[in-house]
Amino acid sequence: MSNVKKIYLLDFGFLAGERGWFIPDPAMILERGKSKVTEWIDIPVTGAVIEHKDGIILFDTGVNPEAAEKWPKPTFNVFPVTSFKKEENTIENQLKKINLSTRDISFIVFSHLHLDHAGQAYVFKDHNTPLLVHRKELQTALYRLWMNKGGAYVDVDLMALKGANWFTYDSEMFEILPGIEIHFSGGHTPGHVIMKVSTQAGNTYIFTGDFVHLPEEYEVENKGWLLENKEEYIANLKKIKVWASAKNVKVIISHDPSFWNKYPKAPKYLE
Ligand SMILES: [Zn+2]
Repeated sequence: MSNVKKIYLLDFGFLAGERGWFIPDPAMILERGKSKVTEWIDIPVTGAVIEHKDGIILFDTGVNPEAAEKWPKPTFNVFPVTSFKKEENTIENQLKKINLSTRDISFIVFSHLHLDHAGQAYVFKDHNTPLLVHRKELQTALYRLWMNKGGAYVDVDLMALKGANWFTYDSEMFEILPGIEIHFSGGHTPGHVIMKVSTQAGNTYIFTGDFVHLPEEYEVENKGWLLENKEEYIANLKKIKVWASAKNVKVIISHDPSFWNKYPKAPKYLE
């Protein structure tokens, strides 16, 4: 029996990216004279708070509020933050909507450490909040930054968390609290994980992080330039689809452009 009553979805603003990062479509890109290669899309940046009887879990932390100044210029040009209001989209202000402060968070779970998922984790460093990440993900992020190949891993996020209360794990599956499971997925990054949450109301939600960016991608079972490992991607997408075929299971796609038409914003909640 799960002890999760409420799941709040957090709004960390929007960023934009060229469609080819997410959806491969050779016909669209290659057809002479009809190239849509510069078609950009706006995607929401989202996170979640899971209210469990024995603790409050934060899943992903959005973008740095000063991304335009603090990310490397080429990175910001590729993934510009197109909407971020400090009075609205910071973690502190999102938590305020549900009467929580950053000190109330028991654990932070990262799907992975890209700039739109680890961007506000720095606010927890001084609280000593445990930061849960797959070992491969932390190693990949630090290695790539060290080699000057950070891509969507940015210094401002990781350097701020040097010496923070990191907890790494290696297992395929890790149950944090009864009803809250982390599953290794890889695919998008070498240490990417997804989160499966079962609630008291009898629902199960699968938070895909960036394993799946867009609903179209889930349908065609392919990803654009942001795909790193196709075998992991196909195998684990099939696994998600098996889960999703059961009753009362929903797949939450964090960057779905129509996310906020489908789901309520905190302080409203899922149960
Ligand atoms: Zn990512």
